[in-house]
Amino acid sequence: MNLPLKEPSSPCPISLEVGDLKELQTLDISSNRLLALPERLHLCLSLQYLTVDRNRLCCVPRHLCQLPSLNELSMAGNHLASLPIDLGRSRELQYVYVDNNIQLKGLPSYLYNKVIGCNGCGIPIQLSEVRLLTFSSGQLTVFLPAEVKTIGTEKDHVLPLQELTMRSLYRTYHGLWKDLNFLSPISLPRSLLELLHCPLGHCHLCSEPMFTFVYPKIFPLRETPMAGLHQRRTSIGFVAYCCSTQCLRTFNLLC
Ligand SMILES: [Zn+2]
Repeated sequence: MNLPLKEPSSPCPISLEVGDLKELQTLDISSNRLLALPERLHLCLSLQYLTVDRNRLCCVPRHLCQLPSLNELSMAGNHLASLPIDLGRSRELQYVYVDNNIQLKGLPSYLYNKVIGCNGCGIPIQLSEVRLLTFSSGQLTVFLPAEVKTIGTEKDHVLPLQELTMRSLYRTYHGLWKDLNFLSPISLPRSLLELLHCPLGHCHLCSEPMFTFVYPKIFPLRETPMAGLHQRRTSIGFVAYCCSTQCLRTFNLLC
C-alpha cells in the first residue's frame, strides 16, 4: 500500500484506520510531512516492509519493535535523535535504513551485523531543540530515547525504587497478562500499566525487561569491523542497553 497524503491535517492522519489492516504487508508513507507514526501501526501483525522516508519524525514508538514479521524498516531523511532500545531484537528485522537523520548518533546494539544504512548521521551541529538524556563515551555522545528516565554507570549497583518495583511487578504478573483485571488502571497509573505491557526494552545481554532505567554502553562504529562500509559517511555508535552493572561489564559487541 502506498499512501500519498498531500495535506495532512493532524500529526498522523491515518492513525485511526491502519491498525485494523491485519493483512497489510507493505506500507509506504514516505514524503508526507508526518510528525508521528500511526498510533496503532504495531497492530498490523503481517507488516513486512515499512517505509517512512522523508517525513518529520522525531521519534519511533517502541511498540513498533513488537511487529513480528517486520523485515525491512526505512526511516531515512527524518529528524530522529534516538531509536527504540529493542529495535532489531526481532530476528525478522534484517534491514534498517536511517540515513540522513543528522541528529541520530546511536544505534541499538541489536542492529549490529544487520544491514543498516546510516550515511549522513551523527553530524556534529548545535542541537538546542533536542531535550533528551545523553550518554558519552570517549568522543561520542548519543541521545537516549525519551522514555529513559535515568541512566546508570558501573558505580550504580542499586536500581532506583521505581525500576525495582516495575521489574518485580512484571515478574509477578507477566504470566497472567491474559486477564487484565489483575492490575486495573485503578490500582496502577495507566502509564505504568502500559509500560508493563510493553517494557522500555530488554537487556541486550540477558533479555531482562527494563522500564525506566538502563545502563548504556557505547561501541563506536568506526571501531567495529563494519567500519569499512560506513566510516567516512557517518559518525555513529552502537549502544548496548543493559539491565545491571554485571551485564554492563560483561557485554561485548565484538565477540
Ligand atoms: Zn541483563
